[in-house]
Amino acid sequence: MESMFWEREIETLEREELEKLQLKRLKATIRKAAKSPYYARVFSEMGIKAEKIKSLADVKHLPYTTKDDLRKQWPYGLVAVPREKLVRMHSSSGTTGRATVVFHTAKDIDKWTNLLARCMYMVGLRKTDVFQNMMTYGLFTGGLGFHYGAERIGALVIPAGAGNSKRQIQLLFDFGTTAIHVIPSYAMHLASVFEEMGLDPKSTQVRMAFIGAEPHSEKMRQRIEEIYGFKAYNSYGLSEMNGPGVAFECPYQNGMHIWEDSFLVEVIDPKTLEPVPEGEQGELVMTTLTREGMPIIRYRTKDLTRIISGPCPCGRTHRRIERIMGRTDDMLIVKGVNIFPVQIEKRLLAVPGVGKNFLIILEREDYNDSMTVKVEVERQYFQGDLGQLEKLRRKITEELKSEILVTPKVDLVEPDSLPKSEGKAVRVIDNRKE
Ligand code: ADP
Ligand code: ZN
Repeated sequence: MESMFWEREIETLEREELEKLQLKRLKATIRKAAKSPYYARVFSEMGIKAEKIKSLADVKHLPYTTKDDLRKQWPYGLVAVPREKLVRMHSSSGTTGRATVVFHTAKDIDKWTNLLARCMYMVGLRKTDVFQNMMTYGLFTGGLGFHYGAERIGALVIPAGAGNSKRQIQLLFDFGTTAIHVIPSYAMHLASVFEEMGLDPKSTQVRMAFIGAEPHSEKMRQRIEEIYGFKAYNSYGLSEMNGPGVAFECPYQNGMHIWEDSFLVEVIDPKTLEPVPEGEQGELVMTTLTREGMPIIRYRTKDLTRIISGPCPCGRTHRRIERIMGRTDDMLIVKGVNIFPVQIEKRLLAVPGVGKNFLIILEREDYNDSMTVKVEVERQYFQGDLGQLEKLRRKITEELKSEILVTPKVDLVEPDSLPKSEGKAVRVIDNRKE
């Protein structure tokens, strides 16, 4: 059997060796970061020096870096090399406020590209594949990141970009696309465009999809795999850590391997900022280990996940993280109960008859919170007996209540009637005033 490893040696490095490499790279990163105006100041205030780092556990003496720190250092405060060494800028999507920017040297781009090649090769992308990238090109990292990664493998890349669904489908058929990169909510939307065009989503040659950029449940992945008849692999990344290529599922689809030769990983309690015991849920914190243009120390991603302990049958030694639950900012507090939109998604998709999109609306009246969940359901429910619709509405209400312990108002709406986005889905509209 052909090797599934892009770089067997590094992907299967013994933990002890991997940790030695991390320690060496962590020290080098501190030296590099100290050349940026921001870390130069912070390190000198805190008395931080690379020589003082004796073990990986010493990372706890380093400062956290937040999205706000990056925003305050706009634009060049964390750049650690002379301007002429920088070749590329990217930015975050700005989902939670002002976007942040990241700068790369040619070496950084080369390393990032390699990580993406590693991810895609792992699940079987080869030079014989036709790869259609349905992500926005430009400042967003999902376009160019995957583009160069697939080119490095030698696949034929179709830089389709986001949106323009009918043309996407045309391209899929005309050029025999075998692999796609797509946001999960967009994959759902695209399926309805197939239907509208009278085409079967299973009739393409696509055999794998890389899905990421937004939280989604295991149910959502299964639904996408069923609709299209291909394998969908979860892909996680963020612009501050290059973009995609941080963590990716292997063929076993049992968590995402996080590339520990490139990122030092911690999981902390977002309130106490102390590490959680291995395996417990917390906020993912990462330090870049090879970046030179803009090294970032202990970046607080706000993404909630847990480490999955134990070896993976694929043989890779890089640890796995569980699919992201959401950001700490995504947590809704309704009547004192903490709720993540993916919990709602997971339960909705478990109910037969539920369609491809939903929206959560929060209101407050006389100090009382109320939650409405608008759910697209299959067209047939609007054609026949209205009793059916009411039955479905009750079923969904029960299902949601058992998950979130709050009884939402459930509104069933026709397919394709809720707003959709070409980028990350907007799942919540919060009309509550403080
Ligand atoms: P922004 O932080 O403004 O959205 P990015 O485009 O850099 O900008 O997006 C990175 C974020 O997207 C991550 O921090 C995470 O919250 C989310 N994300 C990316 N990939 C996934 C994934 N596979 N599952 C869940 N969330 C993801
Ligand atoms: Zn694996």
